[in-house]
Amino acid sequence: MPNVTLYNPTTEEAISTLPSASVEETDAVIAKAKAAGPVWRAIAPADRARLMRRYADVIADHAQELGEMETRNMGMTIGNSVWCANNASNVMHYFAGAIEKFGGSTLPVASGVNLTFPEPLGVVGLIAPWNFPMMMAGWKLGPAIAAGNTAVLKPAEITPHTSVRLGELALEAGIPEGVINVVVGSGGNVGWRFVTHPDVRKVSFTGSTEVGKRIMAGCAEQVKRVTLELGGKSANIVFADADLEKAAAAAPGAVFDNSGQDCCARSRILVERSAFDRFLQLLIAAAKEFTIGDPMLPSSAMGPLVTKEHLATVRSFSDGLDTVFTSDVPTGPGYWHPTMIATPTDANARVVREEVFGPVVVVIPFDDEADAIRIANDTEYGLSGSIWTRDGAKALRVSRAMEAGTISVNSNSSVRYWTPFGGFKQSGLGREHSMRVLDHYTELKNVFISTEA
Ligand code: NAD
Repeated sequence: MPNVTLYNPTTEEAISTLPSASVEETDAVIAKAKAAGPVWRAIAPADRARLMRRYADVIADHAQELGEMETRNMGMTIGNSVWCANNASNVMHYFAGAIEKFGGSTLPVASGVNLTFPEPLGVVGLIAPWNFPMMMAGWKLGPAIAAGNTAVLKPAEITPHTSVRLGELALEAGIPEGVINVVVGSGGNVGWRFVTHPDVRKVSFTGSTEVGKRIMAGCAEQVKRVTLELGGKSANIVFADADLEKAAAAAPGAVFDNSGQDCCARSRILVERSAFDRFLQLLIAAAKEFTIGDPMLPSSAMGPLVTKEHLATVRSFSDGLDTVFTSDVPTGPGYWHPTMIATPTDANARVVREEVFGPVVVVIPFDDEADAIRIANDTEYGLSGSIWTRDGAKALRVSRAMEAGTISVNSNSSVRYWTPFGGFKQSGLGREHSMRVLDHYTELKNVFISTEA
């Protein structure tokens, strides 16, 4: 069992050393989750719902502790990380309520009746990324156990603390042992074992498109159920008739939040040519207000990047980039990267096409509605996007034409746990959130009963 040392990205100091599970240890946890399945499903739905609500309350009671843990581990601002803890709690409440509301149907057919039952899958493997560790854990655990499954959760190796704590809090809340299992370890040992182990009946993966493709191919070997939430290169479209001040004020947060380490980051701002210069001025002014600093301080809008390695990746996009704005960064230790705004003219530049996953945004002019849609869709990704205009019909036309799973109009917000969330094209497969996600955590069984005499 090798150990992994974790560092605080703000101070570069080691904060903990955790054991990393082997394949054999992963197998033992999967066996434990399998054994807990009948125990969990034997609990009456109302009591399961009550346990999940208690779990939700326990998470909320520990929101500050969880938030500080997340901030120390990955550099997210404290406001965001406490918000994420409360979001995980809310998700748990939502899916507690779903237990008693989700069911099958009764369909009259010739000479009988058909009953449908959404059956739990069994053990489900949940693989989370490092950019929103606790929130992603909550998004997956809630529907997985509400649907009657037991879960094995693998946080990213570099950000396991809050997931481990969520596992402990589940036991404190009375969720039976084995229902929620957190396995800290590498993608190769733990994550891949979820893919290959026959007792893991589904893999829900959030992470990069590159790893997602490998997981999907691996799951194909056993026709294993798989859902994928992957990368993005989302467009923030600003029409000349929009409230430019409002759109510009919101744009930095839409891409620099969480240091740009956000799958929904609006990292391409498309601006109608007649409003381009004015918008750019407003955007630069707004970006100057987006303060970078110690993420534990409520005054900081952005902290450091997650690791030294990730800082090098982001720099591979930003080194030598011709920018119209580059912020200052704190001096001293920490994996700091400035916020940057660039207006590249080459549509094939890496910074225009690839997910940077850092605080770098490109601003691109467009000529008319058709041109905006063409540029927005000119990407292999399709996660989210925004449209700013005062023309409601245009907003709806463009929303329908955009190849993306989550669109917001006159807003940059993407995610509400009671509405479906997920990607088109190479941004993913399946959906998180809303009652619809329960279809991805159950298998529909159809039973015909003859009523013939
Ligand atoms: P990543 O793909 O490197 O890793 C994600 C998880 O997969 C980690 O837990 C990792 O250990 C595990 N993993 C790696 N190799 C594996 C393998 N061979 N088998 C099984 N598991 C393996 O992604 P990351 O760098 O942690 O996260 C950043 C990416 O996640 C970005 O591309 C981002 O856009 C995406 N993301 C998407 C969403 C969404 O909802 N669409 C949300 C958050 C992040």
